[in-house]
Amino acid sequence: MMKYRHIFFDLDNTLWDFDRNSHDTLVELYEKYNLSGLGVPSFEIFHEKYKERNAMMWEQYRLGKIDKAMLRDQRFSLTFWDMGLDAELAPKELPDEYLRLSPQRKHLFPHAHEVLSYLQDKYVLHIITNGFEEAQHIKLEASDLTKYFSEIIISEHTGFRKPDIRIFDYSSTRANAKPSECLMIGDGLDVDVIGAQEAGWDAIYFNPTMIPHDAKPTHEIRSLDELMSIL
Ligand SMILES: [Mg+2]
Repeated sequence: MMKYRHIFFDLDNTLWDFDRNSHDTLVELYEKYNLSGLGVPSFEIFHEKYKERNAMMWEQYRLGKIDKAMLRDQRFSLTFWDMGLDAELAPKELPDEYLRLSPQRKHLFPHAHEVLSYLQDKYVLHIITNGFEEAQHIKLEASDLTKYFSEIIISEHTGFRKPDIRIFDYSSTRANAKPSECLMIGDGLDVDVIGAQEAGWDAIYFNPTMIPHDAKPTHEIRSLDELMSIL
């Protein structure tokens, strides 16, 4: 089973528990800026509306319809708008504070360190991420993940975002590897799995909530520790 030489991990919601870390940061901001005092009905509604708006804007960003500054600066004011409030009421500090605080949080998926320690003895490990460059390095450092990885490939640097096959081609070239020697592991079915497969790689779909789908990943796992029996 040493077919692969290089394993490429997605970061957000594959190793680093983005949803949990984001939730905890939003709780902190909700209280720090007294959002209930500004008319936000409850934390749950704020959280739900923020997630919807953020996902919508990330998709627009991925498609090149909005730029990074718009995504970063307007997702909170538009969340206020979505809650039926004046967008101007959103505290001006929220975008910067969210980006400052969230990457410092450290919740990883269960078994992340154990699995990466195991794999790094057998393969060369890398990250391929579409996240913001400044945030991704802080996340990796804060959660003590940097030490496992040879290359940290960030879409902003390459000019291509997953699932564009050019980011996978760039990554295999950078690793001096053939596509057949590369394996991608990620929670994004379209972005990570299908993108990598279109570049001629194998791919493992990390699907902890068992989302139904029709794709044909090389393997599918619910928990990271399953990787130790596959690889
Ligand atoms: Mg992800």
